[in-house]
Amino acid sequence: MPPKARLHELAHIALGHTSGGAELNDGDRTPRSLREVEAEAVALVCLEALSLPGAEYVRGYIRHWHQSGEPIQERGAQRIFKAAVSQSS
Ligand SMILES: [Zn+2]
Repeated sequence: MPPKARLHELAHIALGHTSGGAELNDGDRTPRSLREVEAEAVALVCLEALSLPGAEYVRGYIRHWHQSGEPIQERGAQRIFKAAVSQSS
């Protein structure tokens, strides 16, 4: 599994998207598109921090999933950076 994909999947876990079967639950509080944006954003932060390849693809995925164009709220940004930090430990 390339670093980008591994970081994305680990991000889903760090962000709590997998607890309680959230990935399979349509009634989850966080819409799937936002969950994917969050996971990709965590992957992007980690790839850039570690100078690993794939950041350009991650940006494309974020654009794809974040089609609403709504800015990510402060709470979402905090979750993203917290998850990114947790992946470095
Ligand atoms: Zn995903």
